[in-house]
Amino acid sequence: MKYDVVIVGSGPAGSVTARFAAEAGAKVLMLERRSEIGVPVLCGEGISQRIDNWDMLEGKRWVASNMDGAKIYSPDGTLVTLSKEMAGNETGYVIYRDIFDQELARRAAKAGAKIMMRAEVTGLTKKGEKITGIKVRQFDEEFDIEADIVVGADGVESKIGQWAGINTVLKPGDLETCAQYTLTNVDHNTNYAEFFIGRKVAPGGYVWIFPKGKDTFNVGIGILASLSEPSMPLKLLDKFIANHPELKKAEPVRLLAGAVPVAKPVETVRDNLLLVGDAARHADPITGGGLTTSLEGGKIAGETIGKAVDEQTFDEETLSIYETGWKEAFAKKLLRNYIVKDIMLDFDDKTLNMLADSLKDYKFEEFSTLSLVKALVLKHPMLLMKLKPLLKLSEKSSKKE
Ligand SMILES: Cc1cc2nc3c(=O)[nH]c(=O)nc-3n(C[C@H](O)[C@H](O)[C@H](O)COP(=O)(O)OP(=O)(O)OC[C@H]3O[C@@H](n4cnc5c(N)ncnc54)[C@H](O)[C@@H]3O)c2cc1C
Repeated sequence: MKYDVVIVGSGPAGSVTARFAAEAGAKVLMLERRSEIGVPVLCGEGISQRIDNWDMLEGKRWVASNMDGAKIYSPDGTLVTLSKEMAGNETGYVIYRDIFDQELARRAAKAGAKIMMRAEVTGLTKKGEKITGIKVRQFDEEFDIEADIVVGADGVESKIGQWAGINTVLKPGDLETCAQYTLTNVDHNTNYAEFFIGRKVAPGGYVWIFPKGKDTFNVGIGILASLSEPSMPLKLLDKFIANHPELKKAEPVRLLAGAVPVAKPVETVRDNLLLVGDAARHADPITGGGLTTSLEGGKIAGETIGKAVDEQTFDEETLSIYETGWKEAFAKKLLRNYIVKDIMLDFDDKTLNMLADSLKDYKFEEFSTLSLVKALVLKHPMLLMKLKPLLKLSEKSSKKE
């Protein structure tokens, strides 16, 4: 078997790469080790409605509900409300992630990509140093597939980068461990995504409540692995639910556990090889959301592959059009949020309460650094010291702009 490109993993990053590479004329094979694309769901299922402008998905079968914005609760319950335009990439729609992933795969197939299921990629094949394809295990058979380009779209646990000599190791401080229930019979009437922060609630992370459908909500937690033990996410999530009267009578219809990289992006290109999505560490280091960057990055990767196949050149220099592209599209935000994540780790609950108290009436639509500083400092002058590193960062990035 010989393809122009083999894509390892059929998540959003893999399917979108497959689609755009196939649309550009490449002979594409996407491999997935699971039995069904998108299943089991490992996601809070929140995404920005900006994706409506991206021509990634047809119809609306993948939309479970619309959100009106975000509500953030500080440890003492002070509420800061954001409109959906201001609330970031994880609010807008709650999706059915299984249908979402399958719809992206359908578009890849429609463009001509082949898909192989229950096919686990176990290594790269090489001639000397040159990557020439992949080793695959499907049921009890093992075989090789040749390709000019291998794409690692194999998610948070990615091995492809490592096999190609890229350092993708995640330190515990760069990994959120998560648990989530989909709860039904919830006595709660809101169309907002709700976030709860605080050392006791979710150390180094947050609890989220996303409205999925009638009486049904995704209620999940992410905790920084460096501050956590293996069973801690579920224990803290159960405690949170027990303390919230509207959730007390609810029953689970799904329980999932997973992890999200909250790291700096890694190098994503080698001769004959690209990394996309979570494998490239493209999730947002503050929120852990990785769907929008998987779609954006996948499109750039697919188009780059199309050009490389057209020119029959597969070296690092040709493929680095992809790295330049994603860096232009979203690297600045990821790198800034990586620094902000670290700064915020030093905030204790008292600081978070003061922050929320200062921001509860702030008009985010009229945001400027100066007005924000005023709002923060007028109420709690002590915050100025705590926020110095954040303000310096914001000053630096506005100077660069
Ligand atoms: C609990 C949780 C909640 C989240 N909530 C949100 C949210 O609300 N909004 C948001 O934007 N993001 C969220 N994320 C992050 C989001 O799910 C990821 O960023 C996104 O799935 C990344 O897409 P991907 O295609 O890179 O990887 P994935 O979707 O993880 O896909 C990787 C695929 O590769 C396959 N694979 C891996 N290794 C191999 C192999 N060796 N051979 C063959 N196949 C392989 C896997 O089976 C998988 O199907 C959440 C993550 C978690 C864990």
